[in-house]
Amino acid sequence: MTTEQSVETVDVVVIGTGPGGEDATGRLARAGLDVVAVEARLVGGECPYYGCIPTKMMVRASDAVAEARRAGRLAGRIDVTPEWAPVATRVRDEATADWDDTAAVERLEKAGAQVVRGRGRLAGPGEVVVATPDGERRFRARRGVLLNPGTEPAVPPVDGLADTPYWTNRDAVRATEAPASLTVLGGGAIGCELAQVFARFGTAVEVVEAGPRLLGPDEPEAGAFLADRFAAEGIGVRTDAKVSSVAHDGGGFTLTFDDGTQLTSERLLVAAGRRTDLKALGVASVGIDDSGRTIPVDDRLRAADGVWVVGDVTGKGAFTHVSMYQSRIAAADILTRGEGDGGEERADYHAVPHVTFTDPEVGGVGLTEAAARDAGLTVRTGTTDLAASSRGFVHGPGNEGFVKLVEDADAGVLVGATVAGPAGGEILAVLALAVQARVPVAELRRMIYAYPTFHRAIETALGELAES
Ligand SMILES: Cc1cc2nc3c(=O)[nH]c(=O)nc-3n(C[C@H](O)[C@H](O)[C@H](O)COP(=O)(O)OP(=O)(O)OC[C@H]3O[C@@H](n4cnc5c(N)ncnc54)[C@H](O)[C@@H]3O)c2cc1C
Repeated sequence: MTTEQSVETVDVVVIGTGPGGEDATGRLARAGLDVVAVEARLVGGECPYYGCIPTKMMVRASDAVAEARRAGRLAGRIDVTPEWAPVATRVRDEATADWDDTAAVERLEKAGAQVVRGRGRLAGPGEVVVATPDGERRFRARRGVLLNPGTEPAVPPVDGLADTPYWTNRDAVRATEAPASLTVLGGGAIGCELAQVFARFGTAVEVVEAGPRLLGPDEPEAGAFLADRFAAEGIGVRTDAKVSSVAHDGGGFTLTFDDGTQLTSERLLVAAGRRTDLKALGVASVGIDDSGRTIPVDDRLRAADGVWVVGDVTGKGAFTHVSMYQSRIAAADILTRGEGDGGEERADYHAVPHVTFTDPEVGGVGLTEAAARDAGLTVRTGTTDLAASSRGFVHGPGNEGFVKLVEDADAGVLVGATVAGPAGGEILAVLALAVQARVPVAELRRMIYAYPTFHRAIETALGELAES
């Protein structure tokens, strides 16, 4: 690093170290570049501290409770008394190290990077200003700036809501006890996962969704299926629900709906989407439009000359695996900047998988049927019931689910698939490969599927492919 008039010059400045920023920082530093990573909160971002990892630890615990409760029909009586304390302890000690990122910082430093605590913003091409606890630091990036600012929980503009002590995912993962009752505002993946977790620990849960169904971006069948499963577990679901105001007093929260009805609960979890603040990030100083929620990027994650962007803020899928996929491509491009045409790998999102870790899991890849039709494809779909499969019969309780395939009939390849069911996210892998590699449906039909697996249902769904 060189210092000139209090401007520190380095090769690359990374603003935000979510999974992608952290990964890219390590790659670039290990490749010998002089890298500064700027982080306002915790190195690693939402995923390890407030997102994927702690919530999946909670899901694992709640699945164990549900499976034990199913034992009655399978293996005799097992008395289950779920306790939240082991969940809270595992999340604190094993998942998040008590929300301490020392190990992650040390990993980056060992790779040769410098980690700067503070909030960074662009102040022109290659110029970064960081507000640190000790004052401002200025950096000049010779090779470029990588932005990975991620997202924050969004709080909808509902009358009264902002003044109440509502939870976001960041509070829910820090819960030291399961509340007596919980309203979950938002029926997307985060809301559904956390709703089911707390319900299985004895919390009376009601999910309130403004849209027509749970898991809005997924196939409609997935949302309907999950709503049925929730109903079977006693989790309330209100769709098309418009909340007009929220109030809080000593007794808890009261939601008032447009139709005048009310809902009360001890806790309120807001899981109604995510927000970004592009203005605060100073992107306009390098010519990037800061009026939207996402930053457009090309297939090498370039957003402007010398500016790369990865993660949720690119709008290509708010998932850790997308952020890390992008970081690999962006880092390769940064490393070869100025050499020929830059990095060789191009980002391609036609087979992005995602999994909602409810029980049963809901996994999807590629296009939904509606998206495929909107894209002008000649669509054939095939659906089959997992419970009716041989494995479903053997499995017994907890066997509910389905496989839905979406085929581009002209090309004879799958362009999308959904698997809801036990290990749905794992079964999805073979379909993600089929969509990614554009494996001909004829080839998928020639394959041998092990008996009696859940994934064998894919063969049945292939047999159902028909125009609808
Ligand atoms: C409850 C929950 C569960 C989830 N479960 C899954 C899952 O199972 N699987 C999955 O794939 N995804 C899951 N996600 C999504 C996943 O967490 C994100 O997609 C992932 O973290 C990638 O985000 P990112 O790389 O864009 O950045 P983030 O993880 O959001 O991190 C961005 C980082 O940048 C920092 N930052 C922002 N602005 C600045 C600035 N100006 N200066 C310095 N630092 C800054 C922030 O402090 C933060 O640490 C979940 C999310 C939530 C909330």
